[in-house]
Amino acid sequence: MTSEFGTAPSRKVVCQLEDAGYEAVFVGGAVRDHLLGKEASDFDIATSATPEEVKQVFTHTIDVGLAHGTVLVILDDEPIEVTTYRTESTYTDHRRPDEVKFVRSLKEDLQRRDFTMNALALTLTGDLIDLFDGIKDLQNRQIRAVGNAADRFHEDALRMIRAVRFSAVLGFAIEEHTLQAIEENAASVVHVSVERIKVEMDKLWNGVDSGKALAMIVNTRLAEHLPLFPDDARLLSKCAPYSTAEQGWSALMLAGHFSAGEIAKAYKLSNREKDFLSNVQDALDNRQSSRFTVDDYYRFTLDVLIATEKIWQALHPSEPGIHFEEMKQMQDSLPIRSKADLLVDGKDLMEWTSQRGGRWVGEWMQKIEYAVLHQICPNDSEKIKEWFLNEYEHQE
Ligand code: ATP
Ligand code: MG
Repeated sequence: MTSEFGTAPSRKVVCQLEDAGYEAVFVGGAVRDHLLGKEASDFDIATSATPEEVKQVFTHTIDVGLAHGTVLVILDDEPIEVTTYRTESTYTDHRRPDEVKFVRSLKEDLQRRDFTMNALALTLTGDLIDLFDGIKDLQNRQIRAVGNAADRFHEDALRMIRAVRFSAVLGFAIEEHTLQAIEENAASVVHVSVERIKVEMDKLWNGVDSGKALAMIVNTRLAEHLPLFPDDARLLSKCAPYSTAEQGWSALMLAGHFSAGEIAKAYKLSNREKDFLSNVQDALDNRQSSRFTVDDYYRFTLDVLIATEKIWQALHPSEPGIHFEEMKQMQDSLPIRSKADLLVDGKDLMEWTSQRGGRWVGEWMQKIEYAVLHQICPNDSEKIKEWFLNEYEHQE
């Protein structure tokens, strides 16, 4: 079954490392996803060769994380991450190993990985190396820490968030001892950088089982130690599943009565994500008083409207909602989608009035935009001219 694992270039990388006398295997998420029958991407390779040795085997490499043992090999235009077998020792700060040590044994490398399902390795010939019963856990659909869970979370507290994230994405349960260790060590999540938390949260929002995972964040008390999180996950769970991370961040904002700015700052969202949240906040304010208006359909993107409606419906379960399909139709039927769609521009106004440019041009363009959007006047240059000249002459 496994003879086809990996892309042709990634198989070539393993092959060439072996030919040079080193061990090399596929590891990590791609092996796990393959066993779950999912399409895998990012074929990570682990090897006994040191980074320097890896660089000698291939002609085109990029140093992406030499200190951590990772070299990017470019083969047939494909970038493939090759990481030297390593161990990590004494995490005094709960977030970064004090020392990364390169080793020659695969076993030691697999031992430092977070969960049994992520500690599987696959050889080029299709042999699975399963030192921690990862296959059994995959079959039982459970997430189990490699070794002693509390120790592993103590080393790197992000692993607790990763456990919850994997449970959201895979729909798996967290094994009893692993879950208990999360409950007991939740507070140490404060040591983790927000950038790393955000990467996991972005994946969590997109998970099929995000509702349960979000409740778990509250129940394990991880929520109390995250940058910002509501202490009640009911609204978050009700809005799940989320189809985009932005939907998730929006729900987090509203469930916790936070502002877009607060969430953006706490989780270091991009400006784009922050704008999305501000728009959802504004759209929800409008939605509280009525169904979306033409102006809402015009101003907000469909994604913003969908995120807003989802939350509105969760807040008002007994009131009639708007179907997403209807929202799309409403938006598609607008006469214009932006100012750029208007068939006249400022120059036309100056020509029709023989006036020079000035603030009045922008003001009148806005009136025209409103008239066309609200079908007071069709989007046709002759009709707009007629309407405009008439209004212009009759202004005070
Ligand atoms: P995804 O499919 O979402 O990328 P993944 O399992 O590949 O999931 P990555 O973050 O890409 O997750 O990490 C690759 C591998 O590195 C993991 O499968 C795991 O073996 C190991 N790993 C990643 N982060 C940690 C961590 N914080 N502690 C221990 N091992 C980790
Ligand atoms: Mg990965």
